[in-house]
Amino acid sequence: ASKLAGGRLRLDATLPGREEVGAMIDYQLNKAKQYGVSLQLGQRVDASTVMATAPEAVVLATGATLRPPPSLAANADSITAADAYVVRLAPVVRQKRVLFFDMDHSVSAYAVVDLLAQQVDHVVLVTPRTHIAQNVNYCSAIGVHRRLHQARVEIVTGHDLINFQRGTVTVRNVFTDQESEFAAVDEVIYATPRLVIDPLGSKLSSRVELQRVGDCQSPRHLMAAIQSGHFAGLAL
Ligand SMILES: Cc1cc2nc3c(=O)[nH]c(=O)nc-3n(C[C@H](O)[C@H](O)[C@H](O)COP(=O)(O)OP(=O)(O)OC[C@H]3O[C@@H](n4cnc5c(N)ncnc54)[C@H](O)[C@@H]3O)c2cc1C
Repeated sequence: ASKLAGGRLRLDATLPGREEVGAMIDYQLNKAKQYGVSLQLGQRVDASTVMATAPEAVVLATGATLRPPPSLAANADSITAADAYVVRLAPVVRQKRVLFFDMDHSVSAYAVVDLLAQQVDHVVLVTPRTHIAQNVNYCSAIGVHRRLHQARVEIVTGHDLINFQRGTVTVRNVFTDQESEFAAVDEVIYATPRLVIDPLGSKLSSRVELQRVGDCQSPRHLMAAIQSGHFAGLAL
């Protein structure tokens, strides 16, 4: 749907320290050009737009979305998915205090925290796990710790996100169930396990040969997403 190819990776490449991942998009676009792939961008498609092209086969790569934090109260005030925050780019008004709820633990999640540290006076990082950066290799994790400590990010481990109401965040200790609060929070941003986005599959599967690749087949990491697209291409 975007005017530029690259999906979530293009968002990732705008984050501090992640610029080099943009080279992967350039490489894939060069390969597409080499093999004569025609790109039609900037348009959201539905089942009828797809079928209007009379395809012999369809490969869906519609990605995944961050699911709401599982323990968050149903009546909580609105909170922001990490990728939506990046799309929004900079806060219009400089925020004083932002809480980042981390169930993702990937390099990209901490790149969003690095961005927040540049844009916000005080960042609180809360995770239900006992440590941060658990999906980052050890050497890179040391860099994550160094950057977050240098930026004075307040790191709170072992706590789940329970509620956000009128600027007060309630968290719960995962070991003792004891609740505590952070007051005067301007925004809560979350990076959580992802949910498949597949509005087209059920409408197309009986009409055309169909394959799903990448996060829309099941959420995964970037190289696995690229590899599944590669295998789908070989199979066609
Ligand atoms: C918070 C977060 C952190 C991550 N961190 C890492 C990491 O550190 N390392 C790593 O390897 N991976 C990471 N990933 C995973 C990686 O970003 C994904 O695996 C990868 O981007 C999946 O690629 P994809 O092409 O399947 O989907 P996407 O990149 O999501 O692309 C899907 C595309 O489909 C388009 N689309 C959807 N519906 C329609 C429609 N109806 N019509 C037209 N276009 C449509 C979307 O606009 C989008 O451009 C992270 C993901 C998230 C969310």
